[in-house]
Amino acid sequence: MKEILLLKLGEIVLKGLNRRTFEEKLIKNIRAALQCAGNFTLQKGQSTLLVDPEPDFNMKIGVEAVKKIFGIASIVVAAPCEKTFASVCETTIDYLGKRLETAKTFKCEAKRSDKRFAMNSPEICRELGAFILQRYPHLKVDVHHPDIVVTAEIRDYAAYVHGGRIKGAGGMPVGSNGKATMLLSGGIDSPVAGYMVAKRGVSLEAVHFFSPPYTSERAKEKVIELAKILTQYTGPLKLHIVPFTEPQLMIYEKCPEDLLTIIMRRIMMKVSQRIAEANKSAALVTGESIGQVASQTLESLGVTDCATSLPVIRPLIGMDKEEIIEVARKIGTFETSVLPYEDCCTVFVPKHPKIKPVLRFVEEAEDVLDIEAIIEKCVCETESIWIEGIDKI
Ligand code: ATP
Ligand code: MG
Repeated sequence: MKEILLLKLGEIVLKGLNRRTFEEKLIKNIRAALQCAGNFTLQKGQSTLLVDPEPDFNMKIGVEAVKKIFGIASIVVAAPCEKTFASVCETTIDYLGKRLETAKTFKCEAKRSDKRFAMNSPEICRELGAFILQRYPHLKVDVHHPDIVVTAEIRDYAAYVHGGRIKGAGGMPVGSNGKATMLLSGGIDSPVAGYMVAKRGVSLEAVHFFSPPYTSERAKEKVIELAKILTQYTGPLKLHIVPFTEPQLMIYEKCPEDLLTIIMRRIMMKVSQRIAEANKSAALVTGESIGQVASQTLESLGVTDCATSLPVIRPLIGMDKEEIIEVARKIGTFETSVLPYEDCCTVFVPKHPKIKPVLRFVEEAEDVLDIEAIIEKCVCETESIWIEGIDKI
């Protein structure tokens, strides 16, 4: 039986004059994300986009893909029918019959935007409800927690029957709120941070620092895998891989032990800023949250911030690890994040890192380093790879 997808727009409907650009971004993102499902045509309706699949389109894959597109509030998989009440009833049986047979409770909803249709919404609901009860006498009406919400939508151009909405990803279309560069490690936190910023419509590039042979090729592959998972939400992504062994060894040799981590983090910020400026990002994004480790005390975060003139966005700042893990599981990065790996941050960890570093002393300790040369070398040796998308949904 033919099915179509109705995608209900989220927050972008509130955006007044910008609405057009927001919609265009969203349409572009949908077109790109749905390629993996097959061919389709896309039509614009009022606060709704309609995906009309060709025969080769895999609806299951399509639904999984649109569930991850920001800017969509809800998703409906519906069967089109003729704009007559008889056709609505017939389609209800053909399309939802199996589900109605196994359900215990139901309710009806109707939306009529075509005012020429003879019945109004309450009438459609009432009549359709009566029809269903007659046909499936075991069913009971439950308006609060029904097993299935039988919905008839009578629109100007067509009518549809469906069994309820699926929650969309919410947020705003990626690309509608500028661009940022995220610092992506192989851990649990930073992919979640990237996801959260993308949700607000920010498009992303990613920077990863790796320190061979102290960090393995596998650790790098893991980050590539995480970036691939993120592309389901962000769209194709550029990943900048920065060799970081030399700066780390140099800091280790020349700087006081208790300041190793903070100095390393400041250099990471400076290199990231250079990469961000080259790709026209307006901010950096990290997965830090207050007090998680010594480098994430308020004082450490402050000293880290002073290394860059770009705003540092930390979407996880007030979240507990448990809460972060919950999101990581939801977005599908957790399993990959917990694979064993070494991070360059953990390679030369001081036994007693300064918990309350003071900027002046950190800057003094950095004076022995030729920071400009270090940054320049890192940027020159950076390998940038284009992460097209996930291999399999
Ligand atoms: P995560 O789980 O994201 O690795 P974390 O709790 O391990 O975070 P840190 O290792 O202190 O914390 O890193 C803090 C943040 O710094 C990370 O969330 C990430 O944004 C950035 N970061 C750390 N290591 C790297 C790296 N090797 N490459 C790029 N960014 C990094
Ligand atoms: Mg880490």
